[in-house]
Amino acid sequence: MADDMRQRRKRAAEFIEPFRVKPGSKVRLGRDFDPSFKAGVKKRDGVALLDEGVRLLSEYQARLAAQDTWGVLLVLQAIDAAGKDGTIRHVMSGVNPQGVSVHSFKVPSAEELDHDYLWRYAQRLPARGQIGIFNRSHYEEVLVVRVHPENLEREKLPRSAKRAGVWKRRYREINDWERYLTDNGFRIMKVFLNLSKEEQRTRFLRRLDLPDHNWKFSTADVRERERWNDYQKAFSEMLSHTSTDWAPWYVIPADRKWFARVGVGAVLVHTLMEIDPRFPAVTKEQRETLREAKEMLEAQAPKGAAPDPFEHEQR
Ligand code: AMP
Ligand code: MG
Repeated sequence: MADDMRQRRKRAAEFIEPFRVKPGSKVRLGRDFDPSFKAGVKKRDGVALLDEGVRLLSEYQARLAAQDTWGVLLVLQAIDAAGKDGTIRHVMSGVNPQGVSVHSFKVPSAEELDHDYLWRYAQRLPARGQIGIFNRSHYEEVLVVRVHPENLEREKLPRSAKRAGVWKRRYREINDWERYLTDNGFRIMKVFLNLSKEEQRTRFLRRLDLPDHNWKFSTADVRERERWNDYQKAFSEMLSHTSTDWAPWYVIPADRKWFARVGVGAVLVHTLMEIDPRFPAVTKEQRETLREAKEMLEAQAPKGAAPDPFEHEQR
């Protein structure tokens, strides 16, 4: 059994290794990562892998909640139409809804702009025992805010906080914040869904052609697409500066939806395997209390009823 788990963990680690951004490495997305890579996996096998991942996630999540020591945060970033929503739907399809929280971050509200830029993200962190997902995240603060500097103007910062070097400083602040969270029991893994420009074009067209998908399309999306190169550059810089030993980035190929889902599932399962949460052990005193309660309930059995119908299920 233990051997089986060790094997599984090793397999998961090997599968995700090519996607991990080595801390300190200088990333150029277009050169270093292929959006259509599928690690030699066939779609049919990929779907089976995802099913296995979903089942494992559900098991681990129950233990994570029972142990109530670690919280897990999955950060999802990507360009429009890369499949963040669908990935969340599929990967989390087997877990207990009470154990997960998903937050989507939009343009900041007036109240949010009246606080420091990490404030709204800090408020939505998962609790211990929970898996939290950020659908977009604090990384927008070095992505859309960088590509469209008018966002920075709206953040009401003192002049000293907007000077040259603001992005380097934000990378450092984000790394420090994530390190603080990790040191205190919150594991953070970050996934960038890597979509090609051509695949984005066809996905946008699909949204335009299928009436049920029209709502997903916004004219802002094509305008953002015109800034493709600026975004690729901002993503590359983000990956180069914020992949750390304590909170690494994974760049998951996203041109095939099924593969992206397998990849994200594997990253999440692997982290949970590393945490290896356990159901709390019952102490001697607690066992005594349980035995007393059992005797009391058995004594209350009505005439003819089995004192304990589950007696035979006991180990
Ligand atoms: P969607 O994910 O399609 O619902 O869009 C959310 C929008 O909110 C995107 O256009 C993001 O660029 C924008 N957004 C998210 N976070 C921020 C932020 N911190 N500052 C400015 N815009 C943001
Ligand atoms: Mg959108």
